[in-house]
Amino acid sequence: MPSVTEVHIQARLAEVRERIAAAADRAGREADVIRIVGITKSHPAEFVRAAHEAGLKLIGENRIDEALPKRAATDDLEDLSWHMVGHIQSRKARTVVQVFDAVHSVDRFKIAERLNRAAEQAGTRLPILLECNVSGEVSKWGWPLTEQASWSEVTEEFARIRELPNLEVRGLMTMAPMVVEAERVRPIFKKLHALQIYLRRVIPGDWSELSMGMTEDYEIAVEEGATLLRIGRAIFGPRATG
Ligand SMILES: *Cc1c(COP(=O)(O)O)cnc(C)c1O
Repeated sequence: MPSVTEVHIQARLAEVRERIAAAADRAGREADVIRIVGITKSHPAEFVRAAHEAGLKLIGENRIDEALPKRAATDDLEDLSWHMVGHIQSRKARTVVQVFDAVHSVDRFKIAERLNRAAEQAGTRLPILLECNVSGEVSKWGWPLTEQASWSEVTEEFARIRELPNLEVRGLMTMAPMVVEAERVRPIFKKLHALQIYLRRVIPGDWSELSMGMTEDYEIAVEEGATLLRIGRAIFGPRATG
């Protein structure tokens, strides 16, 4: 018999999927290119298992220390893919490669180099996204690319990251600031999409993924071209604070 947790997660996920489908429809997009990364931070491994049971294949965490035991506890679920979505300290690159299957939060050249080296040592290739700050918030991680005029300044660095043999650049990620009204993030998502179009033009290769949109704004993100939605609370419920 399914547990209460399983039933809740299944129902919430069904609603999120419906809303994604409706948003995709409004935007004239195919819903099947849009994937959910279930963000399980602060929740136990049991939630990961329940999400998997409900058909979720991508799990996201923002801290290595928290992801490690959860991944170990769900190691029998072989078709789960673990995504790192939080800031990474350079000395943790090796652990990141051991624990995660993909990284959304590559936010500087140095960490790309470290991850490349760690992936080489581990004999793997790591899919990554480049985290860009297009919102103008000073507190956020990522390449500061708020001004369109600054975009040409990073193309050389991005092209160099693409040349690192053990990384596979797949696209871009952004963190929108917390706002009271979700609509206010729309220009930020639009800007990340515009940056993707720009990069496609100047650096050949795969830029297909756009990781943007969370619980409060994932429908807007879908309307603006997101392919990866990082959703926590809408699927798993509120997180304990502190
Ligand atoms: C926590 C977190 C999310 C999910 O946030 P919700 O508001 O719970 O959907 C997404 N991305 C990152 C980087 C996070 O840390």
